[in-house]
Amino acid sequence: MSGGQSTPPSAELRPEIPHPARMYDYYLGGKDNFPADRAAAEQVLSLSPLVRISAQANRAFLQRAVRTLAEQGVRQFLDIGTGIPSAGNTHEIAQAVDPAAKVAYLDNDPIVLVHGRALLAGSRPGTVSVLQADLREPKAILADPAVRELLDLEQPVALQLFAILHFIDDADDPYAIVRTLVDALPSGSYLALSHATGDFVPPEDAARGPAVYRSATAQLSMRSRAQVLRFFDGLELLDPGLVTAPLWRPDQAPQDTDHEVAIWAGVARKP
Ligand code: SAH
Repeated sequence: MSGGQSTPPSAELRPEIPHPARMYDYYLGGKDNFPADRAAAEQVLSLSPLVRISAQANRAFLQRAVRTLAEQGVRQFLDIGTGIPSAGNTHEIAQAVDPAAKVAYLDNDPIVLVHGRALLAGSRPGTVSVLQADLREPKAILADPAVRELLDLEQPVALQLFAILHFIDDADDPYAIVRTLVDALPSGSYLALSHATGDFVPPEDAARGPAVYRSATAQLSMRSRAQVLRFFDGLELLDPGLVTAPLWRPDQAPQDTDHEVAIWAGVARKP
């Protein structure tokens, strides 16, 4: 966590091992990646032209979801699995609505922290933190003094899990993780998430992406729509429900591929 505890080996810089954050940065056209990341990312990209489209659609969904939540009055954001900063980060979108909006960014990849902190050097003091944390330790996240210093967990919070839960293995019980976090937040809080899926391709094709990630620091577990829907148990999904990322409140003209973009996306309110 932020207190400088020892970092698990899998989360060290290790340029020779593909890291999901740096592979995603490459899909989005970023430059913060190493040859091993690019080689693995190129293998994934070669599987389908929809991979890059899915990454871009995910990023665009994140931005629409944050804007929607800020416009609904949410002023606190807990963004876990932040990724390497890219165009339109959570705090930029939220603070365009209210400059006082607060964002706690958490990621377990040190490179994300380095880039995140550099980016934030120019942001409004006291509104944004970039912290090292592992989603698999939700209680530690909730107890982290730096999180609690920035966010008032008695007031509504938007919990953001964009493109991270597919890096949590069933063995680590992602449903229990989400439940622990959501249970700690008051009524009027939100859960916004996106998740990779193999729903639109034959199973043998869907297995190819996870096969590439087997050499990376985190494994890829794609989930079906029904499995992703379970993350929202007990919550009220906002319209239009759980849909492929481009179909969530689109602000541009529909594309032919919208229905087969391999990312489920949804936002829900805690009653
Ligand atoms: N949320 C951003 C970036 C997604 S890339 C977006 O949607 O655009 C996925 C991110 O999750 C990476 O930065 C990766 O380092 C992070 N991540 C993966 N497993 C994690 C874990 N167990 N704990 C914290 N972060 C994790």
